[in-house]
Amino acid sequence: MRVAWDNLAEPADGAVASLTGYALALGAARSVSNFLLVPELQCCAVHAPADPTGAVEVFAALPIAVRAGMLRLTGQWRVRTDDPTGWRYQLHDARPADPPGWRGVTRRTALMSGPLMCLAVAARAAGPLSLGATPTIDIHSHAGNIASERRIRAGADFSPIAAPMRQGGMAAICLAIVADSATHRVIDGRIRPFRDPAGGELYNYGMLAFERVHQVVKSEGLRVVATAADLAAATSSTPSVVISAEGADFLEGRLDRLDEAYQRWSLRHLQLTHYRVNELGDIQTEPPVHGGLTDFGAEVIRRCNRLGIVVDVAHGTLDLVKRAASVSTKPLVLSHTSLTTRPGPHSRQISPEHAMAIAATGGVIGVWPVVDIYPNPQAMAVGMARLADVVGVDHVGLGTDLRGLVGASAIRDYTDLPLLAAALLNVGFSQQDAGKILGGNYARVFAASLAL
Ligand SMILES: [Zn+2]
Ligand SMILES: [Zn+2]
Repeated sequence: MRVAWDNLAEPADGAVASLTGYALALGAARSVSNFLLVPELQCCAVHAPADPTGAVEVFAALPIAVRAGMLRLTGQWRVRTDDPTGWRYQLHDARPADPPGWRGVTRRTALMSGPLMCLAVAARAAGPLSLGATPTIDIHSHAGNIASERRIRAGADFSPIAAPMRQGGMAAICLAIVADSATHRVIDGRIRPFRDPAGGELYNYGMLAFERVHQVVKSEGLRVVATAADLAAATSSTPSVVISAEGADFLEGRLDRLDEAYQRWSLRHLQLTHYRVNELGDIQTEPPVHGGLTDFGAEVIRRCNRLGIVVDVAHGTLDLVKRAASVSTKPLVLSHTSLTTRPGPHSRQISPEHAMAIAATGGVIGVWPVVDIYPNPQAMAVGMARLADVVGVDHVGLGTDLRGLVGASAIRDYTDLPLLAAALLNVGFSQQDAGKILGGNYARVFAASLAL
């Protein structure tokens, strides 16, 4: 019989039962046969239901190769009344209807673990992360509120960057100006372009925005990353920035301005397009105009490859990505998105095919903390695990879009980084793989992009 979560008392002891839920994790094993099933995705084990009748302890027929996601299980229902530290309901000889699995936690081990069972809490209390030698890197950020055109133009103060990076253990961030701010706004719930820029307008705005970024970098005492060695050496005690641009609109079709930005502003990471269909190519949120990447876009990629600038194809269409992949001699980055089997119209999410096109270049895809998709760091870690299942762990990264998201974020600030790190370990990634996701993969792409 199919068991409902609000009526776990219904099946008789010994009945064949099936139910759907999320496994709750504790420990480091990737394959387990004993875990706890709960009705909703949990941020961590500390939020396991205190009520022993609110969860089901599972004894699987065979160890389940753990990953992430909802499980549908069938087994023999057992009702226990003799163990005060045990769970009331159990599913024995359980078999998943779907292949994925989780490692789990029993009420007994949870109680024995005390407060330390919540890796997230433990990680936050422990301070800066220890994920091997690789620096932690956010591959898309507007920290300090540098995406705000109003603040840029007004010369307003920016919010702190270095202190939360130190506190949360973030070593480096790709700090991006928004090149086309003046030409788009929220229309009917979507960000859309509403006017064409005047000649010279976006070049002038880009120069102002770069200047302001360098001001905040200086006032915050951040280091500017100019070489691969700079990035590899970054630690959260010496927080660093990769100067980046979201949109190459400031080029206004002129390649020499890329050289200027490289030299004058230390630009090392360029996202080709944003919310305006610019001279480089088509975007996911507007109807295609160019059939993907333009010839100028291809020239910009070649010039980035020669100068040593990371090429970021976030916001671009799949057609843009395909041509970019064929043009670029270096790995591509898609800095902020999430995986979905069927992206809706105008969606910024990407399909498995789109993700594979990035991975095939040896590149990295940054996963976004949009709360509508991932309500908390645990759910985000699940999303990263799903992406890793499709493209491999070497091609997954973190792109918070901090201070750039229209809605709420599951990563509210860099002080939340330990929560995400703990969640990655919690969903079954090794420390080494979590380190790759949280920076190592981008460091690899950055080094390749800057190599001559
Ligand atoms: Zn964006
Ligand atoms: Zn952004």
